[in-house]
Amino acid sequence: MTLHIPFDNSYARLPPQFYTQLPPTPVSAPRILAFNDDLAHGLGISAADATDIAAVFAGNAVPEGATPLAQLYAGHQFGSFNPQLGDGRAILLGEVIGTDGNRRDIQLKGSGPTPYSRMGDGRAWLGPVLREYVVSEAMHALGIPTTRALAAVATGDTVYREMGALPGAVLTRIAASHLRVGTFEVFAHRGQIDELRTLTHYAIKRHYPNADGPLGLLEAVAAAQAELIPAWMSVGFIHGVMNTDNCTISGETIDYGPCAFMDNYHEARVFSSIDQIGRYAFGNQARIAVWNMAQFATALIQQIEDRDVAVQDATKIVHAMPAQLQAAWVRRFGRKIGLEDATSADQPLIEALLALMQEDGADFTNTFRALGTGTARDHFVQRDTFDEWTARWAKRLQSEGAPEAVMASANPVLIPRNHRIEQMIEAAVAGDMAPFERMMAAVAKPFEVNPSFTDLQRPPTTDEIVPATFCGT
Ligand code: AMP
Ligand code: MG
Repeated sequence: MTLHIPFDNSYARLPPQFYTQLPPTPVSAPRILAFNDDLAHGLGISAADATDIAAVFAGNAVPEGATPLAQLYAGHQFGSFNPQLGDGRAILLGEVIGTDGNRRDIQLKGSGPTPYSRMGDGRAWLGPVLREYVVSEAMHALGIPTTRALAAVATGDTVYREMGALPGAVLTRIAASHLRVGTFEVFAHRGQIDELRTLTHYAIKRHYPNADGPLGLLEAVAAAQAELIPAWMSVGFIHGVMNTDNCTISGETIDYGPCAFMDNYHEARVFSSIDQIGRYAFGNQARIAVWNMAQFATALIQQIEDRDVAVQDATKIVHAMPAQLQAAWVRRFGRKIGLEDATSADQPLIEALLALMQEDGADFTNTFRALGTGTARDHFVQRDTFDEWTARWAKRLQSEGAPEAVMASANPVLIPRNHRIEQMIEAAVAGDMAPFERMMAAVAKPFEVNPSFTDLQRPPTTDEIVPATFCGT
């Protein structure tokens, strides 16, 4: 074995109630499709030949020092509590401490059945694996907290989904941790207070060493989520399944399923085919973050003796979130129109632009980028109204130092558009990885204008539009 991973597995040192130890299930014919050399380097993973990389990240070879396990958790899915979920198709190999000093999980996704698989096959198909690879790396390049992609391996096995027989794949995901609101919910729901306390201590030590007890943890996670969701919104990102089991304690984006970046702006935009009522619509994401933190609070306070006081304190923390979300939203969107430090007084100006973009079906990414280059007018139908808005905007910009520079660093040129992702997946299924590689090269530098990627900036034509992202992951 030429591959060395310097494991230090803190989660596996927790009591056995937190997980089930089991190795990944081997696949027929592992073949490496993508490997993130830079990320591997930063994690202290030594260079290795392609055969070893494929074997390890397909789950066929368990590297030395790994303690493979499936984590237990529960979660509210679309608002309903599911008392037991857990890693149904993922295996945590272990943790490494990167060259930056931070501890990270190495997890295989699509690595075979576990005791938590319920009706699932424990597998993933190539499409969602490549979507998560591209979108998580794009989010990282955009400066948004996220899990990352280390490897994608083809399994040589067939996976069956609604769409038929599909090529199987395994994604290796790197995360600050895989602790989620649902990890707390499972023990709170079962009345396992000792485990809840152990988990709280573990989470504080790992993520927020300065947090004071369960309520300190709640406050820290709520603050992280209140930063994360406006960051998503500022690039037109719709997560699609922000259930409590997909809501991390670290504040990283996790589980890229039926997610997408919006093309034309609409507040009520939904991409997930299973989200019938728009629970996770673009403009509802901030409210959902608050709802998720209310579930986190409910779980955490089960360990506090003086329950009445705890309820009051936790309520205060959750009720403070809308203001935090709004402040972060104003700051993010303010930068998108060139304001270095926008305040709530600037909110009407930002909202007026968004309202006009929505009415005119303006492309989110391209319109904001065009603001900085003076070409935004072309993106509107109601040009008189846009001119009126521009007059207000120009007045406000008078007190700004370098609005162009602020806009250039807040408005990406390139996001991985949904129709391009679908085309890339189609090509990959047919054995052509070139569109994937090209897309990865493009999204790695999202704020740079690169003429060779102009086609990837273009919104979909009518027949290219992919209206929904299916959950058949
Ligand atoms: P997700 O929607 O990917 O966050 O998954 C929600 C839950 O369903 C988690 O417990 C997953 O492990 C489980 N799950 C999703 N897909 C599968 C599958 N193909 N096989 C087994 N479990 C799955
Ligand atoms: Mg999940």
